[in-house]
Amino acid sequence: MTTALPLRDSYGRVLRDLRVSVTDRCNFRCLYCLPETEEAANFYRTRAPLRPAQSPPSESVILREWKPRHELLTFEEIERAVRLFATLGIQKLRLTGGEPLLRNDLPNLVRRLAPIPGISDLALTSNGFLFPRLGRPLREAGLQRISFSLDSLDREQFRKMTGRDGLPSVLTSLDLAAQLGFAPLKVNAVVIRGLNDQEIPRLAEFARERRLSLRFIEFMPLDSGRAWLRELVVPGREILERLREHHTLTPVTPTNPSETARRWTFPDGRGEIGIIAPVSEPFCGHCNRIRLTADGQIRTCLFSLHEHDLRARLRGGESDEDILRWIREITLGKEERHHIGEAEFEQPQRSMSCIGG
Ligand code: SAM
Ligand code: SF4
Repeated sequence: MTTALPLRDSYGRVLRDLRVSVTDRCNFRCLYCLPETEEAANFYRTRAPLRPAQSPPSESVILREWKPRHELLTFEEIERAVRLFATLGIQKLRLTGGEPLLRNDLPNLVRRLAPIPGISDLALTSNGFLFPRLGRPLREAGLQRISFSLDSLDREQFRKMTGRDGLPSVLTSLDLAAQLGFAPLKVNAVVIRGLNDQEIPRLAEFARERRLSLRFIEFMPLDSGRAWLRELVVPGREILERLREHHTLTPVTPTNPSETARRWTFPDGRGEIGIIAPVSEPFCGHCNRIRLTADGQIRTCLFSLHEHDLRARLRGGESDEDILRWIREITLGKEERHHIGEAEFEQPQRSMSCIGG
């Protein structure tokens, strides 16, 4: 089934990029996403002493928050949803989470999604911890691209930021991904003032040495602890200045207007740096993304305050035609932009780990 008209919102933006979260669970506790460790609580307490303490919830609370299995979309449901989106002109598909590699039998899902007509780019974002075990089967199943999160090259600092002593595994994952032919190999680093901002030049040098495509990302108010503070955001402009103190960088001409990162190369052409600055330089006017959460809710914006229940329609026996019509309708309500930094800004109920970054 193909439909001629692409998915267009009421501001004229055409949506081409679908992010599907396959689980809300995670084996890390990143300080900017799931700040549920004692260390995260201490960090925020020292930065915002006048706020109610962001004390870590007890383990039982954390576990109760995970969605029960029957609420998650099955592989059949995800496949149907992606087929429907593909008929509406979605071309890029990224699997995410939570930590997507925690989803049982993930290569099987990739095998189902890779051949869907219209999907020309199938990517995955992962913290990299379980990739040494799953990299090869994922590649063989048809995964085309992978991005890893890597916020620090210092083992102790990495542990502090993620709640897990995972740096050696992530470095192994980078080697394996290169061997398996994933290219360009992407790495994301969320920059937080007073935590890993001193590592900006070192991370950039690492990207050059390893020929990686490194993205520095501004810290967004999407953490489960609601501990985000503007003062902790290192604006993209400042990240660039700090990079230029150590590296000669040449801007890269964007290849498509919906690119979220402004990009630079090094003089020897090895590796690439990108800066994603949604807080200080929003790119909402060119946003071409839509998201599906692990429990089957469509989000038209990362910062949406409302979700649209696709799961109920998939399980309620609705025809493909009815669901396609409904997706077109809700897309018209895609938010014009986010309101971070404005008086009316309201942080979404769900954190980045539940929404799917
Ligand atoms: N667990 C996987 C990972 O960490 O790569 C995939 C899911 S994670 C939510 C996707 C991306 O969102 C990661 O690159 C992570 O760094 C980013 N992220 C999470 N919380 C964020 C925040 N508050 N601000 C900016 N980026 C964030
Ligand atoms: Fe960290 Fe990703 Fe897990 Fe969030 S979902 S805690 S960013 S590894």
